[in-house]
Amino acid sequence: MNNTYTIAIHGGAGTLVKGLMTEALEAKYKEALQAALDAGSKVLENKGTAIDAVEAAVIVLEDSPLFNAGKGSVFTNTGTHEMDASIMDGKNLEAGGVSLITGVKNPVSLSRDIMEKSDHVFLAGEGAMKFAASQGTKLEDEAYFYDELRYQQWQHIKGSDTFQLDHASATPKDKIKKDGKFGTVGAVALDMHGNIAAATSTGGMTNKKWGRVGDSPMIGAGTYANNETCAVSCTGSGEFFIRGVVAYDVSCLMEYKGLSLEEAAKEVIQNRILKIGGDGGLIAVDAKGNITMPFNTEGMYRAFKKSNGDTMVSIYKE
Ligand code: ASP
Repeated sequence: MNNTYTIAIHGGAGTLVKGLMTEALEAKYKEALQAALDAGSKVLENKGTAIDAVEAAVIVLEDSPLFNAGKGSVFTNTGTHEMDASIMDGKNLEAGGVSLITGVKNPVSLSRDIMEKSDHVFLAGEGAMKFAASQGTKLEDEAYFYDELRYQQWQHIKGSDTFQLDHASATPKDKIKKDGKFGTVGAVALDMHGNIAAATSTGGMTNKKWGRVGDSPMIGAGTYANNETCAVSCTGSGEFFIRGVVAYDVSCLMEYKGLSLEEAAKEVIQNRILKIGGDGGLIAVDAKGNITMPFNTEGMYRAFKKSNGDTMVSIYKE
C-alpha cells in the first residue's frame, strides 16, 4: 500500500464573477466545500476506498441547500425535483447511474446501490424509485427540497418554453436562459490502495421538462473512472457534455494518445467542448495522484486535498 491519497470536489461551474456574491455567502460556499473535502479525506486518511470517499464527499454537498443536487435541487416545469446521479469505480470499471428520481435524499448512494446491488448499470424514473424502495433508500418529503431561491428562479421562467441551466453566461442555445446560480456536484479520488473513483449528482436544469436528462448520470459523459487513465466528474451544459462524451474523451486522450491528465482535460474543456458550444468544467485525478480542474466559464466551485498537505478551496479564476 502506498500512503498517498488525493481528492478533488466541485460544486458546479458557471457565471461566477468576483464581487457578485456577498462575502458572507462566499464564506458559506467555501465552508460547505471544505466540509465535503473533509468528509472524503477522512475516509482516505483511514485507508478507506476511493469509492467510499467520493460518495461521502458528494453526500455532504447533496445535503447542502447551496448546490443544485439533493436538497438544493432546482425545480422542474411542474414544480417537482428530478434528480440524476452516477458513480464509477476505476478499479473494476463497475458503475451505477440513476435519473429522474424524486424524494431521494442522497441520489449518489442510490447510484451506488444500483452498481452494487442490481444487475444493471442505469435505472430511471418510476422503476428506479421501485428499486430504491426495495433497498430502503432514505426519502424526504417535498418540503425538504424547497428552497426559496430555487423557487424564485423557477417562477422567473415558469410557463415559458425556456429551461435554465444552473450555469452559463454565454448561452449556446436561445432556449437556455442565463442564470447566476450553479451547483451540480461531484468528487474524484485516489486512495492509498492505488484505486480511483468518480461520482456526480445534480438536480439538472430549472424548468426542465419531458424527462430531460443531462450528462451527470451518464457514464462516459458526466462521470468516468478507470485506474489505467483517470477519474472524472463534469459540470456544465449537459446537452453538450453528452455529445462530447466528455469524461470518457479525457480518458481516451490519455489512453490512445498518451496525453497527460492535465493535457487531456485541457484539450477537452478548452478546445473540443468549446468548439461545439459547451461551457463548463471538470475535475479529474489519475492513479499517480495528479489533479486537474479546468473550466471554460468564469468560475467553478472547487477544492482539493492531497496527503502531502497540499490543499485549496476556490471559486473564481485565479
Ligand atoms: N451538467 C448538468 C446538467 O446538464 C448541469 C450542471 O452541471 O449544473 O444536468
